[in-house]
Amino acid sequence: MSLSRRAKEVSPSATLQITAAANRMVKEGKDVVAFGAGEPDFDTPEVIKQEAIKAIQSGFTKYTPTTGIVDLKDLISKKLKTENALDYPASSVVVSCGAKHSLYNIIQVLIDEGDEVLIPVPYWVSYPEMVKLAGGTPVFVQTKKENDFKIDVNALSQYLTKKTRILILNSPSNPCGVVYDRQDLEKIADFCVKNNIICISDEIYEKIVFDGFKPVSIASLNDKIKKLTVTVNGFSKSYAMTGWRLGYCVAEPEIVSAVSNLQDHSTSNPTSFVQKAAVMAFSLQDDYFNDICAKFQERRDYIIKRLDGLKEFLSYKKPDGAFYIFVNISKTGLDSFTFSKRLLEEALVAVIPGAPFGCDDYIRVSFATSMEKIKKGFDRIEEWIKKTQ
Ligand SMILES: *Cc1c(COP(=O)(O)O)cnc(C)c1O
Repeated sequence: MSLSRRAKEVSPSATLQITAAANRMVKEGKDVVAFGAGEPDFDTPEVIKQEAIKAIQSGFTKYTPTTGIVDLKDLISKKLKTENALDYPASSVVVSCGAKHSLYNIIQVLIDEGDEVLIPVPYWVSYPEMVKLAGGTPVFVQTKKENDFKIDVNALSQYLTKKTRILILNSPSNPCGVVYDRQDLEKIADFCVKNNIICISDEIYEKIVFDGFKPVSIASLNDKIKKLTVTVNGFSKSYAMTGWRLGYCVAEPEIVSAVSNLQDHSTSNPTSFVQKAAVMAFSLQDDYFNDICAKFQERRDYIIKRLDGLKEFLSYKKPDGAFYIFVNISKTGLDSFTFSKRLLEEALVAVIPGAPFGCDDYIRVSFATSMEKIKKGFDRIEEWIKKTQ
């Protein structure tokens, strides 16, 4: 038996690998503090759960239209208008099985063999693999910690070739919590428009921002960039609904119809009763998000204090959004896998190595866990690093 070239080229998700190793140790009875989580530690809000139960009991368990039910698409269209200044009719929305699925679909319909996709480093681990699965070539755009890991637009043109088709933007970002402001986005938009490059804007962490930061959707800047942008969002991170699998994209009609066709012949519609539950998610008010952001911010600030006490070993860039802190470990002289493996085995703390995000001298620490665990974990990290360094 021989697997396809496509399948052979894809790497397994490294974030899931470490989580699996940590879970194994927990099963063996070890008291592991896990900073690997890529999902909120909060429970899905009760109103959303109840709506799903109601939908199941009322028999809403059959196929729906491929791109989603009308009431959900209407609400998404309304949300984008009021919150993101994006004017798209419900017919321009495709609801999929998670934002990851939306991203996969978009990349599948936009690139041909050999097409190049610009991916800023550090990147979410799935972007390059999705590009490879579509036959494309990921082109990594280097960024600097001193520049808050933001793209230097002046340096972008050096990556351009005749095959450049897409730029992937993720703000607030996983793994470093960078949030692009309006000025940054204007420069990126100009670059895309000038070079006719499609921008995939992954806005999944939009609701998780600190110090009152207000994320801007790049497609809202002007009509020219709107025509070139596919905006992706979903319910996983904002509503603690990771396991429900629901996300969406909006774009120009041509792209939307291609994504819809692809979905027709792959997954069809996302789960019917999950869509009903998501309708209810839109009833949650600002205080729900304010509360979540306040909790994450308190944790971030605590971690920063602890890291400031370990300056001889570790440095970081303060995240403005999402729930991760990307920590530079170069002073330890260890690569990211060795660091993470030893920290897990010797100090029972699980973090994610930076290499799969494109940065081998970093680790990713998730603060989607309780303050109590964060304190315990950082006590252990401090003791371990002082002992071994
Ligand atoms: C979690 C995550 C996603 C995927 O979210 P789902 O809706 O659960 O598929 C997409 N992009 C980034 C950067 C993420 O961290």
